[in-house]
Amino acid sequence: MISLKTPGEIDIIARAGAIISALYREIPGRLAPGVSTRELDRFAESFIRDHAGAEPAFKGLYGFPATLCTSINHEVVHGIPSDKRKLVNGDIVSVDCGVKLDGFYADAAVTLPVGEILPEVTRLLEVTREALNRGIMQAHPGNRLGDIGAAIQHPADEAGYGIVRELVGHGVGREPHEEPQVPNYGKAGRGMPLEIGLVLAIEPMFNLGTANVRTLSDRWTVVTVDRAVSAHFEHTVAVTASGPRILTQ
Ligand code: MG
Ligand code: MG
Repeated sequence: MISLKTPGEIDIIARAGAIISALYREIPGRLAPGVSTRELDRFAESFIRDHAGAEPAFKGLYGFPATLCTSINHEVVHGIPSDKRKLVNGDIVSVDCGVKLDGFYADAAVTLPVGEILPEVTRLLEVTREALNRGIMQAHPGNRLGDIGAAIQHPADEAGYGIVRELVGHGVGREPHEEPQVPNYGKAGRGMPLEIGLVLAIEPMFNLGTANVRTLSDRWTVVTVDRAVSAHFEHTVAVTASGPRILTQ
């Protein structure tokens, strides 16, 4: 079932989203060789809990053990923070997190460089972020779900990147994952109409190699089969009468 949100509910999601965006402004300054992903996770949890009423949404969700998903290089999503996993110069790390506030969830992700990264990896990050922006721009009432997917797919196809298909964006609101699914590919003009009050987590995952992914034996970490690096960017976006409103910016 699709749940549409009132303007007041969208404002609550935006307050949850503002905590994530404030957190993500703090993270780049904490990325350095030798820093463990568990340190980032501890920082993120205390940062979120410092905001009255806010809780990390992923901790305990389906049994996930941490506040952040931290996915390095060929890890696509759902990497588990660890004291043993230390950042290295040249890594990219996808940081993904949700915040619950006053009964509503927001969800966002960003992929960040650690020190100097290869030019082709910089480009992967730029194209994936741009694809997210293009998808968001389609989140207008009267458009359809396929318009978002098609807008995201186009830059990946042009660049020759693999688009992860097993994992998709989603509705978000009273639950961290709601209908509809929001694929990062599609056909313009197809699919469900986008109605005012729909709130979507839009989240392209592009690989420098093929689209193929698998899940590691930890049952969480999704990696590229060819071990090529992968980028992931996500915003929570509301479809409003005046167009897309980014709630995690
Ligand atoms: Mg997310
Ligand atoms: Mg999400």
